[in-house]
Amino acid sequence: MNPKTFHKVSYGLYVVSSKMGERLNGQIANTVTQVTSDPPKIAVCINKQNLTNQFIRESGVFTVSILSKEAPMKFIGNFGFKSGRDVDKFAEVSYKIGVTGPPILLENSVGYLEAEVLDSLDVGTHTLFIGGVVDAQIIVDKEPMTYAYYHQIKGGKAPKTAPTYIKEEKAAKKTKSYRCKVCGYIYDPERGDPESGIPPGTPFEELPDDWVCPICGAGKKEFEAVSR
Ligand code: FE
Repeated sequence: MNPKTFHKVSYGLYVVSSKMGERLNGQIANTVTQVTSDPPKIAVCINKQNLTNQFIRESGVFTVSILSKEAPMKFIGNFGFKSGRDVDKFAEVSYKIGVTGPPILLENSVGYLEAEVLDSLDVGTHTLFIGGVVDAQIIVDKEPMTYAYYHQIKGGKAPKTAPTYIKEEKAAKKTKSYRCKVCGYIYDPERGDPESGIPPGTPFEELPDDWVCPICGAGKKEFEAVSR
C-alpha cells in the first residue's frame, strides 16, 4: 500500500462545533461530506479523543463552519491544535448560536451547515456522525479553503510571497527552514510570518525570543532545523 495515495483525495477544511449544556466547543476537521440531497444529510468524522466528539454525542447536534481560503493560520491553530478542555476556543472569535444551540463562526467562514444527528457509526478511532441538515447559509461569497491548500501553506510550499527586494546580507545568509516539533508547522524564512509581524526574509535565528509557532503556540526551542 502506498500511503501517499491518500493525499490525492480532495477535502475542504472546516470547524465542526457542538455544545454541552452551556459549554461550546469546535475543532478543525477535513472529513465533512454531503451524503444525500433530498433530504440533505451530511457526514462528519470526529476523533473519539476530542471533546467535540463527546459534545456531539451528548447534544445530538453540530454545526459545520466552512473555512475561507483567507483564514489565518492562527485562527486555524486555535481550533486545530488546542483542546477545548484547556481553553475556551470561542472566547475571542466572532460567532452566533445556531437554531439547535451549537456555535457558528461568523469570521473566516464562507458559510455553514447545521445538523441534527440521525445516526452514528463507530469506525474505530473515530465516530462517523450522520446529520440531517436543519439550516444552511452562505456568509460571504469567497473561496473556501481546501485541505491541500492548507497543507501547502503549512508546509511552506505555497507560492513564495517573497519580497521584491531582499537585503543582500540576508540573502547571503543560509536561510534554513525550521519545523515545529509539536504541530509540524514549517517556518520558512523566505515567507516569514506576516500574521505575527515577521517580514519575509527573516532568518529563524533573528526571530524575537518571544515569537511562538503561529499554529500551536509552541516556543522557538520546540523547533528543529530541516534540510531544504
Ligand atoms: Fe507548532
